[in-house]
Amino acid sequence: MNDTLGRPLRNLRLSVTDRCNLRCQYCMPEDDYVWLPREDVLRFEETSALVDIFLSLGVDKIRLTGGEPLLRRDVAALVQMIAAKPGLNDLALTTNGVLLADQVDALKAAGLRRITVSLDTLHPDRFKKLTRFDQLEAVHAGIAGARRAFGHLKIDTVVIRGVNDDELISLIEYGRSVNGEIRFIEYMDVGGASRWSPDCVVSRHDMLETLARHYGAVAAVDEPGSTAPADRYALEDGTTFGIIASTTDPFCRTCDRSRLTADGMWYLCLYATRGLDLRAPLRQGVPVEELKALIANGWGVREDRGAEDRVALGDRRAFVPVQDLLRKDPHLEMHTRGG
Ligand code: SAM
Repeated sequence: MNDTLGRPLRNLRLSVTDRCNLRCQYCMPEDDYVWLPREDVLRFEETSALVDIFLSLGVDKIRLTGGEPLLRRDVAALVQMIAAKPGLNDLALTTNGVLLADQVDALKAAGLRRITVSLDTLHPDRFKKLTRFDQLEAVHAGIAGARRAFGHLKIDTVVIRGVNDDELISLIEYGRSVNGEIRFIEYMDVGGASRWSPDCVVSRHDMLETLARHYGAVAAVDEPGSTAPADRYALEDGTTFGIIASTTDPFCRTCDRSRLTADGMWYLCLYATRGLDLRAPLRQGVPVEELKALIANGWGVREDRGAEDRVALGDRRAFVPVQDLLRKDPHLEMHTRGG
């Protein structure tokens, strides 16, 4: 199953809720949001049925996300339904960590294989300002739980100029202390990031320079054939970390990701403005073979290179600058589409 650019359908991001228990300034800066109607949100059985079809078409990696996936009641039950499916090579979850300490054992027992926790700052005041909730201690507890249950984890950090770009070294050190590999993410001009501006972006180049000034040589880790968004690097002592340079040097050429929202809209690119509604045909009882053809055809004509198109723009601003537009179509939001 290849698209028009020869990219296989392999990676599926499943957003299980559009709700979040943080309000990160770079993702959900507004005071109020339009939420997906509850009756539209797929039941676990419905999600599981769609996952079966995606697996039959070549998907072999699934990541649960959101919104905050741990807000979805009994998400471990969904993990259990998916983990047992033949053909699945990887099942991961991305969380802000706030509710993780209490759920990590159930997730592990249900068959979750890997966990990524998002953490942008180690300063309590800064965390509170950035996320608008005083929950840094809960995140630390979640990370400790992930380490205990899984042995290791990944930690995703969005680096924003003037906000947390002075923490690259402390985050690397923190990652070491919890057996977590840090992945620094360039601030992206995605939907939801309505306050984005190019001045706030810290490029991969600048991050590497800062780290090399402190640690000495930073070597690229060669990973032939990898389609992972992060380029990985190693410090002289062997500590590894990643950088996701989606803003300055996108990986569209190898992007095998698509996203299913909690209400069953399928998006082929983080920047796509239109998705394919899979909930309606599923609920209408359309036969599996027809759903399969719908998805296969959708992928077959995929030509999205959203992040590259953004780079080509030159004069770059927020992708969806008008909040009214986001209100009209919540699917344009990062927290709905699934990060
Ligand atoms: N709530 C979960 C979490 O915090 O990880 C999952 C959803 S969140 C939308 C997924 C990831 O997207 C987080 O690591 C978040 O920092 C990242 N993200 C959100 N907005 C972003 C932006 N404008 N640029 C880069 N990353 C962003």
